[in-house]
Amino acid sequence: MQPFRLSSLGGEFTCPATEKAFQEERFPETLRHARLLFLASAVLNTLFFLSDWRFYGDPHFWIAGPARSAVVAISLLCLALVARTASFRQAQRVMVLWQVISGASVGLLVSSHSEIALFVVVVLPAIFYLAVPTSFRWTLISGIGCSLMMLAGFLLPEPDSPTAPGLILAMLMLNVALILVVSRSNRLRRMEWAATQAERRLKDELAESRAMFEKMFMAVPVPLLVTSRKDGKLLKFNDAAKTYFGKEGGDLTYVRDLYVEPDARTKFLNELAEQGRVSGFETAVRLADGSTRDVLLSAAPVNYAGHGAVIASAVDISSRKALERRLEQLATTDSLTGLSNRGHFTHVAEVEMERSRRYGRTVSLLMVDIDHFKKINDTYGHMTGDWVLSAFARLCRECLRQQDSVARFGAEEFAILLPETDELAAVAVAERLRSSVSALQIEGAGNMPLSVSIGISGIDVSEDTLSDALARADTALYAAKRQGRNCVVFYTDNLREIGAA
Ligand code: GH3
Ligand code: MG
Ligand code: MG
Repeated sequence: MQPFRLSSLGGEFTCPATEKAFQEERFPETLRHARLLFLASAVLNTLFFLSDWRFYGDPHFWIAGPARSAVVAISLLCLALVARTASFRQAQRVMVLWQVISGASVGLLVSSHSEIALFVVVVLPAIFYLAVPTSFRWTLISGIGCSLMMLAGFLLPEPDSPTAPGLILAMLMLNVALILVVSRSNRLRRMEWAATQAERRLKDELAESRAMFEKMFMAVPVPLLVTSRKDGKLLKFNDAAKTYFGKEGGDLTYVRDLYVEPDARTKFLNELAEQGRVSGFETAVRLADGSTRDVLLSAAPVNYAGHGAVIASAVDISSRKALERRLEQLATTDSLTGLSNRGHFTHVAEVEMERSRRYGRTVSLLMVDIDHFKKINDTYGHMTGDWVLSAFARLCRECLRQQDSVARFGAEEFAILLPETDELAAVAVAERLRSSVSALQIEGAGNMPLSVSIGISGIDVSEDTLSDALARADTALYAAKRQGRNCVVFYTDNLREIGAA
């Protein structure tokens, strides 16, 4: 059964439960209305009582007096009774009682046939229809019953009255019109009530789903942040975010305070604008204790309390990133010296040569080999040999600039790339390195002299490949070895010819 269907005749809900709910909800109003009605009836009929004195001396006076008194008495009684009612049905019973007694009494009153009586004949049914808030069934019964009582009271004393047919027809018309009015009013009031009920239900559902969302948002074990898109102001964050970032509401106002890199948020917002969402955005964040963590951010735009906002989740990937960094380090560095390995050096050198080509800069390459290294190993052992390799690496870091690249190329052979360095400067660097090595005291090896031989090659970035340059530096290194070691040789075409010979 449709709960809000209205009957076509009375305009009431066809579903009894809905009709009952409607009446009960309006009960306080119905009660107020009934009280007012009984009070007005008691007061007005008392006043009418005075007007009834005009019949004094007439036999009708003995009908009008008791009838009027009965109306006043029943009005007062109902006024008292209705105050004790606790439901619509009980109140309706009191109203019907009032209607029966006052209808019968007024029926006697109108037998006076005065002009006022005629007026009352049409007014009382109208009052019963419009002013007594009973259910449609009782409104119909009491309206028709009242009309019949009025006609009987007015017409029966003079049954052959010429106005009788006209009055009966007028009464019929009045009843039909009033039934239509009551039906329409019932219908409108119930439609309005049904609309408020639907609105209330929707509001309840909305509140329920909001509460559910809130609960879920808070319970998600992944940190979630809702921020204003405009200025990054933090609008909301869940318990996991509080725990993860170690911050309370007051401590964290703007999301930019979380980013380690200042322009990370701009990049994040650019990605959001370009792709409509952000997925897998890696960045570093700073926690309340000052430590930094790597996180993977995913985000989507949302509307939050009228703000253009962003909801973002943060997944901690610090251990994965640490592992990645460790693997990268293992893949690119030499474990003994901590210098770049050959593969990484090749990559870095090619990038540097490309950069120098673009800006027209000079680059030089050094190949360094430790002299008589085998002898060190053989005399003092591998451990001492290892120490020498590490000591040389340390020396390189101290002697060279930040932008220079050093790599362990082979056993005791090292390559050094010097960006923005011409021949003369390269020779100076090589000499400085060579003399620093000579000054090194080998741990546990007394006065054992240590030296390196260095071959240098200038690089013409517009023509040379890295392997050309490496080959030339190697040739120069070979020449240095032949010249007795512990020296620096700059590559010239001559050397190639000598080498070939
Ligand atoms: P030259 O002056 O002509 O360069 O002679 P050299 O003895 O320095 O060169 P050689 O190529 O004959 O010997 C290199 C030695 O380096 C051979 C090898 O056992 C040793 N070696 C290679 N890798 C390592 C290492 O990681 N640690 C140590 N301690 N020795 C190494
Ligand atoms: Mg050597
Ligand atoms: Mg060697």
